[in-house]
Amino acid sequence: MSVKTDLKSLDRGALGAFAKGSGLPAYRAGQLIHWIYERNAGTIEEITEFSKKLRQELAAKAFISRLQLKTALSSEDGTRKFLFGLSDGNAIESVLIPDGKRLTLCISSQAGCRMGCGFCLTGKIGFKRDLLPHEIVDQFLLARQLALPETLTNIVFMGMGEPLDNLDNVAEAIKRITAFARFSKRRITVSTSGVAPGIREFAAKASGVKLAVSINAATDSVRSSIMPINRKYPLQKLIAALRDFPLAPRDRITIEYVLLKRVNDAQADAKALAGLLRGIPCKINLIPYNGPENCENGRAFNMPDENTTMAFQDVLVRAGHTAIIRKSKGKDILAACGQLAGKG
Ligand code: SAH
Ligand code: SF4
Repeated sequence: MSVKTDLKSLDRGALGAFAKGSGLPAYRAGQLIHWIYERNAGTIEEITEFSKKLRQELAAKAFISRLQLKTALSSEDGTRKFLFGLSDGNAIESVLIPDGKRLTLCISSQAGCRMGCGFCLTGKIGFKRDLLPHEIVDQFLLARQLALPETLTNIVFMGMGEPLDNLDNVAEAIKRITAFARFSKRRITVSTSGVAPGIREFAAKASGVKLAVSINAATDSVRSSIMPINRKYPLQKLIAALRDFPLAPRDRITIEYVLLKRVNDAQADAKALAGLLRGIPCKINLIPYNGPENCENGRAFNMPDENTTMAFQDVLVRAGHTAIIRKSKGKDILAACGQLAGKG
């Protein structure tokens, strides 16, 4: 018996080929896309636009996969975290973050992460594997259902993994989320730890999608000590890629800066950051460190006190930048930035 085809694993071309190979007219591929991506069909049986006979024929050789929801946790601040099981036993997490009129879904691009940033729990668990396009898309499809009756307004690739280390699959997933599920690409943001050549490639492969960059330090010595990627792509290369990033008028790059007590929180750091970003249309999100007080590798990170944080922001604002202090959400369920370890 031949192996059944997972319809969710197919891109536009492959779905067309599947329809053709099944002796069906081309418009059937469009109907499959509509039912899977807009109507959330979980089985071929649910596609009631098809006759019973057609459904039976298709079900004999194809199926519609779905991530397995293993745990759903709710925070007292309204943040919800979902742990999804992959077919090979790995697990990933997605987070739903309500904020006023917005409902943002934070999704993962990899199981684990290769980048090893010292302050990040995902970095600690190491790299398991890249997610396939449909495993990325499925986080969106399932969360969209789980969020009902609310509607998702934004998607951020700020969950587990480095999206630009899995760029082709991320770009294909974005294509399906926008073209198949009709979610606006202007409401999608991809966050990178600074894979400089990837930023240029991303601009070409996912044009119109927003970019966020985790800068986290304004000098190479500090940045390399907390983010190993900086040894490969130092700040000068990263900033050059940001200067070249195509932006629509009024659009800005989001800059993320995790504030670590006595590591990168001095006034001098703020001044260096302001200088580094001069001339780049951006808004800066300051995220006070929210991890454990002591890391296993012997390096201790702490959250700066409020005065230091506000003084840091003040330097940036005086230099003409937009800088916002981001209070972490979902800390009680380990759903905040850098707390995703795939353990529920
Ligand atoms: N790998 C990508 C996407 C993940 S985004 C990236 O690094 O950009 C995760 C965000 O959370 C990053 O901006 C990262 O700097 C931040 N972060 C990681 N660990 C954190 C922690 N312990 N406290 C606060 N923010 C953290
Ligand atoms: Fe990976 Fe981003 Fe965490 Fe760094 S901050 S280890 S790049 S997920």
